[in-house]
Amino acid sequence: MLKRLIRLRWWLLSGALLCIAGVWLLGRIALTQQREAFETDARIMHRVLSQRVVQHDAILATVSLLQAEQGSEREQRLSALYPQILGMQRRAAGEAWSDARLTAAEARSRELRRPELAYADFAQGRYVLVLAGQPASHAMTVGLREMLPWAEWPTDPKASPVRVLLRHDAQTLVLQEGRYLPWGKGFSFSKHLAADSQPFEVYAERIVGWLQLPWGWMAGWCALVVAGCVAAYQLRTQRAQRLRAEELLRLGQVARLNTLGELAAGMAHELNQPLTAVLANTQAARRLLDDDEPELDTARSAMGKAAEQAQRAAEVVGRLRRVVERPEAGAERVAVDLVQVARQVLYLLEPEAHKRSVAVTLEGDASRVVLAEPVALEQVIHNLVMNALQALEKVPTAQRALTLHISHDNRQGVLRVADCGPGIAPEVLPRLFEPFFSTREDGLGLGLSLCETLAAGMGGELRAANRVPQGAEFTLRLPEAST
Ligand code: ADP
Repeated sequence: MLKRLIRLRWWLLSGALLCIAGVWLLGRIALTQQREAFETDARIMHRVLSQRVVQHDAILATVSLLQAEQGSEREQRLSALYPQILGMQRRAAGEAWSDARLTAAEARSRELRRPELAYADFAQGRYVLVLAGQPASHAMTVGLREMLPWAEWPTDPKASPVRVLLRHDAQTLVLQEGRYLPWGKGFSFSKHLAADSQPFEVYAERIVGWLQLPWGWMAGWCALVVAGCVAAYQLRTQRAQRLRAEELLRLGQVARLNTLGELAAGMAHELNQPLTAVLANTQAARRLLDDDEPELDTARSAMGKAAEQAQRAAEVVGRLRRVVERPEAGAERVAVDLVQVARQVLYLLEPEAHKRSVAVTLEGDASRVVLAEPVALEQVIHNLVMNALQALEKVPTAQRALTLHISHDNRQGVLRVADCGPGIAPEVLPRLFEPFFSTREDGLGLGLSLCETLAAGMGGELRAANRVPQGAEFTLRLPEAST
């Protein structure tokens, strides 16, 4: 399981990165949308409140112009028209304000030539504006709650998650409760009303909780990424399997061609026997026929034996024909990296090793360049590894280990194929490289003799030995390519 995870680590990592990137992007888009909606609402709130307070300046200026008297009918109508105007005071020349704050505000108003805030009392929900005039000055009391423009308000004040405050000095009036969340992303907006006479600050705040993020879309995206990764991984695996199968097929074809030399040697050995018998029998028959009184029966029998042997020889040749289709011309020796070829063979035989639960390790040099025929070298390593895998079938699964070790020694690249199998029996060891020698029931016995011939053809050598405490080790030496 762990091994599988390690093998898939790049896929898992890429998938996880894609998921995180997508989730982050979707979260960001959602938050941006929420922030934009919040800012639009906050700006509308600021605008409608500003319009209201600017109106107060205008009303006060109009009253001053008309010189309305305190408690007059005009003033009564004003309150009926504008419910936020709670009262109006007037100070005629020679009179004094009842409150010192009004006196101070009037002085400022006279200087600045505009209405001035005398004081604001948020707890009472009111504030007083003063406008200095001639012959009388006016003070207007405005109700904070009454002035709120609910008809133009962009949100539902009871249900909206946005908290809205009106602030002045250390005083705060909550216009809209909003919803407080202990965790989430917060946005805020703060701006003074657009009237210098009523410099109240509108403060809005919104917290988007993590649960309010588009988790459905995020989960969908992750599912899409997982599906995409699985599909890509399967495609890649299928492609790798196809390539591996093609490569094995190619190696198998070359092996069949290379086997020709070995086969020819073996066949020569097998043909030698019947041909010798044919020769002996025909010579005997000729001698018998040359006699004065030819021994026809014996000569006939000798010719019969010769024919039998000739028949056997024909069968041997037929077998040879069936196995070999055409010989291959010897290839050029070139500089090849022993490590890369070994790695390629191990890759090709990965399914075979996996099938037999053999743990395969490649140790040694990072690169070792030797002079060899690439295909022949591949075939030698293929045969050695395949033999080792077959030998390992005879030991318990837990013991099955195969190591390919690459080093160099005396200007030669050295590849050791070592297994922990049963090893080579002492009586087998001297005959190991003989053509047609095999201890396996379905073995042709040509693999190792071919490997040895190929190794020698490349100017190298192949040796076999047993390992302590158990197992076999084949050592292939090839001349290093001079750099
Ligand atoms: P085949 O594989 O067809 O039997 P080979 O020439 O490849 O022919 O091998 C000849 C014999 O050498 C095998 O039958 C086996 O007895 C022996 N042999 C080869 N490799 C190993 C090994 N790694 N461990 C033990 N015996 C081996």
